[in-house]
Amino acid sequence: MSLAKYKEKRSFSKTPEPKGGKPSGKALRFVVQKHDASRLHYDFRLEMEGVLKSWAIPKGPSLNPADKRLAMMVEDHPLGYKDFEGIIPEGNYGAGTVIVWDAGTYEPLAPTDGTKKAQDKELLKELLAGSLKFRMNGKKLKGEFALVHTHSRGENSWLLIKHKDKYASEKPVTEKDRSVISGKTLEQVEKNPH
Ligand code: MN
Repeated sequence: MSLAKYKEKRSFSKTPEPKGGKPSGKALRFVVQKHDASRLHYDFRLEMEGVLKSWAIPKGPSLNPADKRLAMMVEDHPLGYKDFEGIIPEGNYGAGTVIVWDAGTYEPLAPTDGTKKAQDKELLKELLAGSLKFRMNGKKLKGEFALVHTHSRGENSWLLIKHKDKYASEKPVTEKDRSVISGKTLEQVEKNPH
């Protein structure tokens, strides 16, 4: 676990993005941000070993088990990033607007003693093995998902797949386009950041 890459890519005098952040609460957190950078994508972030393990998903998550969404693993982000919504100014890494599209808690499907520490350990083991299975408790993303390492598009490529359960749906979940923090769309934050 290291935020060195994250810090190396950014100059904190020029970007409002957070430098750090501490774990809180009894459950592991997740966040999905919608990011209008040079290309629109969704950033899928899971709390693990005190940071946010992160993947960029060009098409965004889907609740349809028939979809396999390409998720490119990127550098770890600090925990404070889960609350970040705003504008990364021109000229900075990832310049563009960010909203918190979904947020909540998540847990491994594999049985543990239920403590955050044991869940963290299990998920980290699955991450290293290239196959994560977890349950999401968000506003938009709910139920069971798998995130599976694939070598189809290089060593950082993974696939996000919804399991069949009562939350599975063919309706595109990305049609729900508002921030779960501010209730604003990306376009609204772009025009009126505060
Ligand atoms: Mn991004």
